[in-house]
Amino acid sequence: MKYKFEKPVNAAIGTGKYQCSISWRNGDFTADEPVSQGGQDSGPDPYTLLLSSLASCTLITLRMYIDRKGWEIPEIRVNTNLYSEIKEGSIVTVIDRDLYFPQSVPDDQKLRLQEIAKACPISKILENQVTVRTFMQRDPETAKKIVYENADIAVIWRPELCQHATRCWKELPRVFRPKEKKWVDVEGAPAAQIAEQVHRCPSGALAIEKK
Ligand code: SF4
Repeated sequence: MKYKFEKPVNAAIGTGKYQCSISWRNGDFTADEPVSQGGQDSGPDPYTLLLSSLASCTLITLRMYIDRKGWEIPEIRVNTNLYSEIKEGSIVTVIDRDLYFPQSVPDDQKLRLQEIAKACPISKILENQVTVRTFMQRDPETAKKIVYENADIAVIWRPELCQHATRCWKELPRVFRPKEKKWVDVEGAPAAQIAEQVHRCPSGALAIEKK
């Protein structure tokens, strides 16, 4: 298992209605709710962000394909929108994606591009099974702790807090070895690398004690 991004997308909200500051690898932006939902419309709402993700992925995928083919298509545009309806007792969401070109494009190229758009990575994510796992960092003060240490680092392990996200042992198996009795081997990687992995534990079960 390897995450797509070295650093996760981070978001925070205070008591303001409803500005969320979103940090991504190269900057920040604001998400909000429209005024009709009690927000201030100071940034895209979550549905708009979802549609934007599909729209941008579609355009980037098409541009790459067109450039590879050497076709003369200077501009591609896309509209995305969605609706939900109840079908056989379940809510079904339908996303519509309309592709168009301000300049004339031969029909055979348009048909090919329609197929390519359907295969863009975000389309595939949306149309395949997605699982959202939710972890919660808990207060470490009361939980029992075990320490694994050497001269450079001390890793604290609080078994009651572990939510078995598998993140530590899938990303750094030389150190986090769930099948071993002494399951954290602090000799398995440099201290800085272990510390970085410990900070990615979503439950607070792993922590670093200052040396
Ligand atoms: S210690 Fe943290 S990262 Fe490792 S399995 Fe438990 S919750 Fe996941």
